[in-house]
Amino acid sequence: MFLSCLDLEGVLVPEIWLRVAEHTGIDELRVTTRDIPDYDQLMRHRISVISRNGLRLAEIQQVIDGMTPLPGAVEFLNWLRERSQVIILSDTFYQFAEPLMRQLQWPALFCNYLMIDDDGRIEGYRLRQIDQKRQAVKALRQLNFKIIAAGDSYNDTSMLNEADRGILFCPPDNVARQFPQFPVTNDYEQLRVAFGTAAVELETQE
Ligand SMILES: [Mg+2]
Repeated sequence: MFLSCLDLEGVLVPEIWLRVAEHTGIDELRVTTRDIPDYDQLMRHRISVISRNGLRLAEIQQVIDGMTPLPGAVEFLNWLRERSQVIILSDTFYQFAEPLMRQLQWPALFCNYLMIDDDGRIEGYRLRQIDQKRQAVKALRQLNFKIIAAGDSYNDTSMLNEADRGILFCPPDNVARQFPQFPVTNDYEQLRVAFGTAAVELETQE
């Protein structure tokens, strides 16, 4: 028996902030962890851009409401949920994720909180804990679960390292090159095969 941990953005749904940047025309929101690797610095940048542009949570949620999961994501997730329990480990926020979770049929989600003032403006954010993806995998392994994890980028690599098996899904070239220990998959069919292979390896290990 294994348990699956999946990243959200870039694995099951598009990058939320990029979509917000496109819809609002605010180019300063295009920066990602690839431009500013420090998550706290990146979030402080985003929040100051949002407040300078007078953007409220409801307007951002409206953009997210119009988003759909990546093609094939729902089918992949249903396939995986028939084979293991699945937990989504994400650096996004509960206030952003809801419309997408509905379309994914409400898998378990561990992520972070935005702090919203009385006017509906985003005034800050609260991490549930530092390096939560890795900490979650570590805690689940302490409960005697074997973990297979998949993610697409830098912020997933500590989770992939902590898991019994880690898989990269459509990673940028530099991430794939820097972390050659993880198999690279480029579509959901390859990801299914990688999960299947990892599951067999874990079973024969027992
Ligand atoms: Mg991602």
